[in-house]
Parts: sequence; structure tokens; C-alpha cells
Amino acid sequence: MTDQEQPKVAMVIMAHPDDAEFGSAGTVATWVADGWDVHYVVCTDGSGGGPDGTSDVGPAARQKVIATRKVEQRAACDILGVKDMVFLDYTDGQLQPSIELRRDLVRLLRQYRPTRVICPSPDRVWEQVLSIPRQHSDHLAAGQSALSAIYPASQNPWDFPELLQEGLKPHIVKDIYIVGAPMINYAVDISATIDRKLKALRAHTSQVAAHFDEIDRMLRERSAEMGKEYGMPLAEIYHRIER
Ligand SMILES: [Zn+2]
Repeated sequence: MTDQEQPKVAMVIMAHPDDAEFGSAGTVATWVADGWDVHYVVCTDGSGGGPDGTSDVGPAARQKVIATRKVEQRAACDILGVKDMVFLDYTDGQLQPSIELRRDLVRLLRQYRPTRVICPSPDRVWEQVLSIPRQHSDHLAAGQSALSAIYPASQNPWDFPELLQEGLKPHIVKDIYIVGAPMINYAVDISATIDRKLKALRAHTSQVAAHFDEIDRMLRERSAEMGKEYGMPLAEIYHRIER
């Protein structure tokens, strides 16, 4: 099968609502414009992203945060033209690269059968000033789980044989884009989609409203910085693995 014949189906696997907008929304909007169906998978329930400084962190408050963040993620998806989103609802802040999570991701990979997958890096980048917030332990766990699900589990019939019983045949992901990786080898020009990216990010009101101007400026600066090396005005960067 040539590149042109690959189904235009992509999946974005992230730990939290808003992760995809920060790291990849410009790429997602570019792909959607190019006719790709993009599906989001959010591994956690987003319950750890309530208001800063609050002492009300009980079950009712958490349920409210979860509901709010799902509505916000849906709004961001609508702005970007993302087809649908799946929340796996693991507890925010406690994500582990467990066999259960890997199985859940394999199930989705085999159901949606994406040609391209975007996921976070399982590895830390120690040189970056941003390494602590960006490399939240949930992000690392989501990255490790996504890559373990892609290879070998999704393509190996011997892994999770129960999924074969569900009628889900093995699937090979051809093109992997890892966000925040220690080694970068690919950039996507987001000059035409930066405004849409920021609009989608702004939909995460509970997370960004208080300091959106600063985020807007910081992301434009960072996108310009990332594009420099690739001769692009504005870019999102990845470690890309084509198979
Ligand atoms: Zn996150």
C-alpha cells in the first residue's frame, strides 16, 4: 500500500484533557483540513485539574471538575474538527502504564485502525526548563502505554487474545508522532492553523482562562522557536517513526 492508499485515520492518545491542544492541535487542524478523520483518546478523567488553591477536593467537587473538563474537551474537538473523543477515565494523577490501560488502548487501536498516532513521550527531557510540568507522570505513563499498545500488542494476535474474541483483528500503526521526546526529527508547519489551535486551547476555560494571554504569547513564541530549525514560521515538533 502506498502512502496515498493508507486510510486517512489518525488517533491522538493523551493523558489529560488539554494535553492535545497544547502539543498538537496545530497538527490536528492541518490533518483535518487535509481530509483526515482524527479521534482523541484521553486516558484520565481530568479530575486533578480543579481550581488552584481550593480546599474542596472531595468527591462532589471532583465530579464537577470531570464534567466540566469533558465539556471543554468536546468544545475544543469541535473547533478543530476532531471526529470523536473517548475518555478512559483512569484517575487523574495516578495513571500507570498498566496492562489494563494497554489493553484499553489496543482495543481502540484495533477498533479505529489509525494510520497515524500522536502520543506523549515516555521519556523525560532533562535539558528543558519546562521538563517538570510538561513531563507530568501521567504523560509519561500515557506515552509508555501508547507505544506498548502500538508495538507489539496491537499487531500481535497473541497479545490480548480476548480482543480477537471481540472481533478485533490485529492492526499495524504506520506512522507515530511522539510529543516532547528527547530526540526530535520532524516538524509540522502550523502557520495556517495556529489561530485555530489557540481557539481550541481557549475552550479549556477552567484551565487557561486566568492566564490565557500569557499562554497565547508563550505558545506563539515557542512555535516560532521550534519552526526555526525547520525553516517554518511556526511549528509543532515530534519524534516521528514511520514504519
Ligand atoms: Zn497533562
